[in-house]
Amino acid sequence: RRIELRRYLGRPSVTRDGQAFSLLGNADLLPDFERCREVGVKAIGLMRTEYLYLDDALPDEDTQYRAYRAAVEAMQGRPITIRTLDAGGDKLPAILGFTKGPNPALGLRGLRLSLSLGELFVQQIRAILRASVHGPVEILLPMLTRRDEIRQARNIIDRCREELRAEGMAVDPELPIGGMIETPAAAIDVDHLAGELDFLSIGTNDLIQYVLAIDRSDELVNYLYDPTHPAVLFLLQRIQQAGARHGCPVTVCGELAGDERTARLLLGLGLTRLSMPPAALPAIKKSLLEASAADCQQIVREWLDSSQNSAEQGLLERLSPE
Ligand code: PEP
Ligand code: MG
Repeated sequence: RRIELRRYLGRPSVTRDGQAFSLLGNADLLPDFERCREVGVKAIGLMRTEYLYLDDALPDEDTQYRAYRAAVEAMQGRPITIRTLDAGGDKLPAILGFTKGPNPALGLRGLRLSLSLGELFVQQIRAILRASVHGPVEILLPMLTRRDEIRQARNIIDRCREELRAEGMAVDPELPIGGMIETPAAAIDVDHLAGELDFLSIGTNDLIQYVLAIDRSDELVNYLYDPTHPAVLFLLQRIQQAGARHGCPVTVCGELAGDERTARLLLGLGLTRLSMPPAALPAIKKSLLEASAADCQQIVREWLDSSQNSAEQGLLERLSPE
């Protein structure tokens, strides 16, 4: 099947009825970037950086700079979105010396943690800015809940840029800054956040868990983890519309984007920039090439309008190829 799927990679990314879409890659380590290139991604939608903090020692600025630069160079001019440290919750590097707190999912995590770390965040931002000289880079801020978090992060980024310039280093002055929309607060207040950001990235893994109050790794409740829940669809639609209103590109980078069962759901919501692990890309490309965006939109619209969401045939079955 893999070989059969590769046939689709060279085709223009347009659905059966002419809707253009973009498939981007999620990659952290160098081999992932190479695989992304092999499957023809135009950009990296998500480079997670948590892995840099899993060693026994914290990565210094130069170590991070080398990792980001290697990633940028591996992509040979294609843009790469580097997400600042998203530690906390399920991924709390022991090295940071933080204790988990009573409820890690609601605790010091993501951008909150970075803003409270001070110097460590500055080192990461400086390393990213330095790498941006070698190719197009965008910065992505995780776990936003408030506008002032964006302002604080922007202030730090501006300060780092000035410091690097004063030290005689070149930096990209136009580097776009985007935010992850993955908390209910960010999704509900997305219009305000979009006004302060250059792009949005939907983290469906966290968004669904927080909206539905379902920890997917908890076997007692994971049967309720449902991407077709009307509350989830409503928020995804809201984010798409806010992005369009503000001229802010919206990418989906959670697992829904790389899952054959849900990529058409996203298409039906008008979400046409999907970032996924490179291994998932060929099957998603085939599924979207063969889809009709208008049909998917109609099915999703009917589903949202219908009061009979317990219909025998679920939404994902209706969207899947016959
Ligand atoms: C997400 O929450 O969907 C996401 C992409 O981020 P992570 O899986 O790293 O939390
Ligand atoms: Mg997340």
